Amino acid sequence: MSDSPLYGALEAGGTKMALSVLNDAGELLERTMLPTRTPGETIPEMIDWFRGKHIAALGIGCFGPLDLLPASPTFGSITATPKPGWQNVPVLDMFKKALGVPAAIDTDVNAAALAEARLGAAKGLSSCLYVTVGTGIGGGLIIHGQPVHGLVHPELGHMLLQPDPRDPAPKGFCPYHTSCLEGLASGPALQKRWGVSARELSQDHIAWEIESTYLAQMCVNAICCFSPEKIILGGGVMQQSFLLPKIRSKAKALLNNYIVSPALNEELDDYITAPGLDIHSGVTGAFLLAKQALAAE
Ligand code: ADP
Ligand code: ZN
Repeated sequence: MSDSPLYGALEAGGTKMALSVLNDAGELLERTMLPTRTPGETIPEMIDWFRGKHIAALGIGCFGPLDLLPASPTFGSITATPKPGWQNVPVLDMFKKALGVPAAIDTDVNAAALAEARLGAAKGLSSCLYVTVGTGIGGGLIIHGQPVHGLVHPELGHMLLQPDPRDPAPKGFCPYHTSCLEGLASGPALQKRWGVSARELSQDHIAWEIESTYLAQMCVNAICCFSPEKIILGGGVMQQSFLLPKIRSKAKALLNNYIVSPALNEELDDYITAPGLDIHSGVTGAFLLAKQALAAE
């Protein structure tokens, strides 16, 4: 065996788990996917897979909400998820105990944001916001080079928005909130509102005018609240590449020249942008968490 350590990276999602092994340079050596069943089934399967891999540390980017308060007795647990069986599962502790290696956990989007900040579209910057627009909407915020946790951790997908007057479902579809971002603009929200999957909506459909208005409102709220040096938009819905220019121009109009920065004018195309790591932000983020865990040991 070589002296340079191997790292485990777990992208824990509500529908699937992606397990990877990477070398010290961040090159992917092995990868497998497992469906997310109950914790009693899926966690032992994942532990078994990692067990034979000689990893020196594990990083976990996990669906939430998570307890990320270092002083909390349940640090590293999933908390109040609607996902059956996963409430209060001490994910971090279970892996640490079973594998006997240093491990670190953060939200899936904070991990992706960390990767984009260190190695992707926001490389060289000390702050950025990464937002995924997919089955859900989530945002990871990096400030001073580190993910923001705070009270719990940001739940950017549930920020409240102003409904578009053209929206036939202005309350959205979140079971918790009226007119929140995820309830209005996630992939499933598009499907419920228009009766066809987001993938099948034609480019000239009014759906995309409304969708880009909501995502532009989110960008404006984030710019006004956090002043990130870059906003990175990923996830399945953003595969519709014509959305990015629409979001940029609407965000600019909503800001109405109030905030003075080249990023919001001549550099706007570079400011609200696609991920630099393509679809690899998640695995790269979990890898960086594993490296941090080993370094902290
Ligand atoms: P997840 O959020 O589950 O990790 P994705 O980011 O791929 O996975 O998001 C899945 C959602 O994105 C689905 O609701 C799907 O309808 C939507 N989606 C996936 N691909 C596209 C596409 N090419 N165009 C529009 N919507 C898409
Ligand atoms: Zn909500």
